[in-house]
Amino acid sequence: MNRGPDGHRAKKQFGQNFLHDRQVIDNIVRAIDPKPGEPIVEIGPGRGALSFALLKRTDALTAIEIDRDLIPWLKQQDARIQIVESDVLKVDFSALAERLGGPIRLVGNLPYNISSPILFLAREHRSAIRDMHFMLQKEVVERIAAGPDNKDYGRLTVMLQSMFAVEHLFNVPPSAFTPAPKVDSAIVRLQPLPVGSWPEFDDARLELVVKAAFSMRRKTLRNTLKGVVDETELRAHGIDPGARAEQLDVAQFIGLAQPQAATAS
Ligand code: SAM
Repeated sequence: MNRGPDGHRAKKQFGQNFLHDRQVIDNIVRAIDPKPGEPIVEIGPGRGALSFALLKRTDALTAIEIDRDLIPWLKQQDARIQIVESDVLKVDFSALAERLGGPIRLVGNLPYNISSPILFLAREHRSAIRDMHFMLQKEVVERIAAGPDNKDYGRLTVMLQSMFAVEHLFNVPPSAFTPAPKVDSAIVRLQPLPVGSWPEFDDARLELVVKAAFSMRRKTLRNTLKGVVDETELRAHGIDPGARAEQLDVAQFIGLAQPQAATAS
């Protein structure tokens, strides 16, 4: 059971749940809509379920894979796959984009245990990224795509929506994978927001404010933002200090992270 090419065994530590459902694979490829010549980078090609389907629609694919046991087999299947043998968290997407000749299209059925670090890494390198299509745990997609006044709305939501337009495309059941994961999955599309979508803001300050605001979800901003943003400044931004973090929309968080706001005690 769970044996793949060359007797490969699925490895739990690498979050290996391999897609086998053709309909789901087709739907993902349709959502990506790859075109020949585009620099497409797949994170975790695994046994190639998505890679080979993409290669029917494009002429080259760069794939980042950590499991060395899969690499010789993948290379043998299709010479058009360029494998980067690495932990994706060590990859410099900006350097990769430069090498591939322009902003990359990042795709992948991600290892769920490191999906948040991958998303934050992509956020750091957003100017090197044209768009992203990822399979993630459904709860994570719900958190990324949430709006205010929702239990799923939190730090991940605000940090990603401050940089990307987010679309929850469709859900995928555990039965689409071998071995089947214990959780539901979903496909999400993230596209970097055009420059000028928000007023200029200080990203380090946004991180600080968002982290503090959501550190205790049930407490008011007056308490959670003590020492970070004072009440006068909250009011100046039209924010009630008695509100809670989940009541602020992304634009309001951006407002609190404008460079001139950095003087708060
Ligand atoms: N794309 C294949 C599919 O859909 O069937 C495999 C998806 S599987 C959920 C995740 C893949 O990511 C595996 O191939 C795994 O070896 C790879 N992987 C896990 N951790 C990784 C890491 N840190 N860097 C690069 N690849 C990783």
